[in-house]
Amino acid sequence: MTDVVAAFEAAKGFMPLDEGLALHAAAKEAAAGLGLPLLEVGTYCGRSTILLADAARGAGTVVVTVDHHRGSEEQQPGWEYHDASLVDPVTRRTDTLPHFRRTLYAAGLEEHVIAVVGRSPQVARVWRQPLGLVFIDGGHTDEHATADYEGWSPLIAEGGLLVIHDVFPDPAAGGQAPYRVYRRALASGHFTEAGVTGSLRVLRRERG
Ligand code: SAH
Ligand code: MG
Repeated sequence: MTDVVAAFEAAKGFMPLDEGLALHAAAKEAAAGLGLPLLEVGTYCGRSTILLADAARGAGTVVVTVDHHRGSEEQQPGWEYHDASLVDPVTRRTDTLPHFRRTLYAAGLEEHVIAVVGRSPQVARVWRQPLGLVFIDGGHTDEHATADYEGWSPLIAEGGLLVIHDVFPDPAAGGQAPYRVYRRALASGHFTEAGVTGSLRVLRRERG
């Protein structure tokens, strides 16, 4: 685990270690209990992916991670989370895919990850397999966060986990779209809260 934590800390990304450890614990539990694949929306440079991959490896399953690798709205030039070192000099567009592949290679976890390059709602439409865990950390507009929830949450197996990042009940602390999705999941009656760490929320899909 120390090598995985070192790779996590070396990778570009937005997740603090305490939230990463909570994600890892949730993923371990879901992977061991259900033996089903884990799915991530929002790969970026793989910082969170390797935690899911380590959990998948331990349980003999895989993590599927989905991203168009062009960056979210707030990561475009001129915006708060833009990183010029992620721009492909040929296309002049953000391209996090090569950075993600380096992170995965450095962590020695390539065989435990299936990377899907595409738009989350389009991928969800062709995906039919039940999932042990869905981690939503993609686009943070209402449009994207809602589409991620509607596209992927019905595929979570009973007893499986829905994990949402960047949930800020206080509008002064951050954008509200992930928080609204979290409220909606609880209000649906299909999910109950199973853990809170920083802005990470773990919800469990009810049985029955
Ligand atoms: N989970 C990562 C951070 C993800 S940042 C970590 O912890 O390090 C959000 C990512 O979501 C960006 O890479 C962006 O390209 C991706 N994204 C945003 N909207 C998307 C969509 N509709 N479909 C696929 N990927 C999307
Ligand atoms: Mg996030």
